[in-house]
Amino acid sequence: MDWLYHRSIFDFDSMTDLNKDLRQYLDQNYSLHIPMSTKKERSFDGTIKWMIDQGESQAIEAVYIPEKNRGTLCVSSQIGCLIDCPFCATGHQGFNRNLSSAEIIGQVLLAKQDLQNEFKRDDLITNIVFMGMGEPLANFSETVRATKILTDPNGFNISRRRVTISTSGLVPQIIKLADHVNVSLAISLHAPFDELRNELVPINRIHPIESLLSACWFYAKKQNLKTVTFEYTLLKNVNDLREHAKQLAKLLKNRPAKVNLIPFNKFPGVVYEPTPPDQINEFRNILLESGIMAITRTTRGDDIQAACGQLAGTVNNLAKKSLRQKLKKTLN
Ligand code: SAH
Ligand code: SF4
Repeated sequence: MDWLYHRSIFDFDSMTDLNKDLRQYLDQNYSLHIPMSTKKERSFDGTIKWMIDQGESQAIEAVYIPEKNRGTLCVSSQIGCLIDCPFCATGHQGFNRNLSSAEIIGQVLLAKQDLQNEFKRDDLITNIVFMGMGEPLANFSETVRATKILTDPNGFNISRRRVTISTSGLVPQIIKLADHVNVSLAISLHAPFDELRNELVPINRIHPIESLLSACWFYAKKQNLKTVTFEYTLLKNVNDLREHAKQLAKLLKNRPAKVNLIPFNKFPGVVYEPTPPDQINEFRNILLESGIMAITRTTRGDDIQAACGQLAGTVNNLAKKSLRQKLKKTLN
């Protein structure tokens, strides 16, 4: 791990403090390589997006978002996504397969190497968020393996609180996660009532809001987290009315919770519209007045389709219509 993650050596033969037989064994049984970026795009605001080849003509995306005091890398966990939230570009792409932990970690290695080449610094990535393509908890074991390498002192050595797993709300997996890693948790809530959430985040038909929130409070308590983050993408006239804000405040009152309001990012073929900034402020004020911590997330990388929910990569969709219909039936 020291050779790989601290000295950036990707050739077993150069790992000279391992004995020759072991090096030979490793060389014959394992391969080391950093994935290939087929396209790199840069936003006017400094955000960088890499398209990463996954073979079989498919690609995923990873995004680096520089800020004043930190640099966040947003990684993908699956090629596509099965959850099918109607306001998300990844959902529209369908689903092909889970990424392995090596493919998840590969995104970090690639970004780190590329940023090092460009800026001559290896400390630019301070935070990792599982907010790229895919539902990380639907790829549970590989997400956990990757997370352990991210936080291990012999690995990337990133503080636990600076790694965030974002989920649409797979309740049994949230509970199980507490036995495996102690990282920050973000929940894609997007609606305060089951009826509306069933439509916006279809997994809600299996795991409704009440059970989701219980799992969150369980995770926060067990992991001693100050807060769970609730992501709420504002869709014009769908989930952005005063009554939505009031109901949301009621759900989270006196709980270890904070809300990230996300301006909706459009992409080709989507029917939703963004909420105007004034109304986002009003929504936020209702939360603040009710004692709920709330911030509005600044949109980054919109000009290169790198903002939240705009990542689409190239997905050979295996969730053909019949499979999707089956899933929809199960969810109903
Ligand atoms: N699948 C995971 C993580 C990826 S999405 C999850 O759903 O949590 C990261 C965040 O962006 C989620 O909260 C997601 O709901 C939100 N999002 C998806 N599409 C969006 C869009 N078009 N505009 C703004 N936010 C969006
Ligand atoms: Fe999947 Fe998350 Fe997009 Fe929903 S918002 S379709 S869970 S990636």
